[in-house]
Amino acid sequence: MQLAVIDDKILPYAELDSAYLDRGTFFGDGVYEVIRSYDGRLFALEQHLARFDRSLREAGIEGINVNEVRGRVEEVFDRAGIPNARVYFHITRGCGDRNHGLVPGIRPRFFLTLMQLADKAANKENGVSVSTFPDWRWKRCDIKSLNLLPNVLARIDAEKKGCAEAILVNDAGEITEGSSSAFFMIRSGTEVVTRPLGPDILPSITRAIVDRLARASGLRVVEAPYSPQDAARADELFLAVTTQDIVPVVRFDGIQIGDGRPGPCTRALIKAFSEFVRDPQMNCKPGERSC
Ligand code: PLP
Repeated sequence: MQLAVIDDKILPYAELDSAYLDRGTFFGDGVYEVIRSYDGRLFALEQHLARFDRSLREAGIEGINVNEVRGRVEEVFDRAGIPNARVYFHITRGCGDRNHGLVPGIRPRFFLTLMQLADKAANKENGVSVSTFPDWRWKRCDIKSLNLLPNVLARIDAEKKGCAEAILVNDAGEITEGSSSAFFMIRSGTEVVTRPLGPDILPSITRAIVDRLARASGLRVVEAPYSPQDAARADELFLAVTTQDIVPVVRFDGIQIGDGRPGPCTRALIKAFSEFVRDPQMNCKPGERSC
């Protein structure tokens, strides 16, 4: 008889809930998104859906209608009634016997959670510490895939060092991005430097908005590789991520940045971001025109 074991319970393989046979669990074979809302409005929904659609295509997961995904996100957001929510969803290639190749008849599975967004206002107010870690990830980090073991190891290392985020450094000694955030440095007072988009980083939605806001406020955006040594000497550093938008970094590998407080450019960008999220072009309520 074919068997399975779940913790200390032995059961017939045939009786296993198919969720245990998800290729997302076996192989990280799926892609995901994280969206947030501000004050009852989903933020940058279309940008996230477009990235999700691209991740699905790049991963060769077929048969998904992104309009249906939009509908589910809007419906659950409406139903939950949580004004500042974090919406996580993923699609895996499906469930079936563990086999790297495709199992006939397999169909993609959708999973979503909507939760209250954690209050991390203190991070924004005081800034956070970060530490570096080797970038051990694969060569298609532009796909938002479920394979996150290197990111997890990096974050655990950072937390052990009392840091909020790990900054990944590739074999060439260049910073790529955070374990779950984009990374920026301000130098020469008005230059905002970040790594150019490419297969080695995620095309962060927050990064794109920061880029736009920085240009609009007269800062010069430079997309160029830079090293941990450059970062340690920067005027200011910050992280960019959907769930927290802009987070000032005040310590880098134990080295104080500036006067150890969030710097003026970062604070100006935080302010610009908070005004921007109220821009109707970027937000939508469920049922409102697409945005
Ligand atoms: N880079 C990585 C590796 C991430 O996991 C994330 C977010 O989870 C980001 C960057 C930031 O992306 P976004 O601004 O779209 O949240």
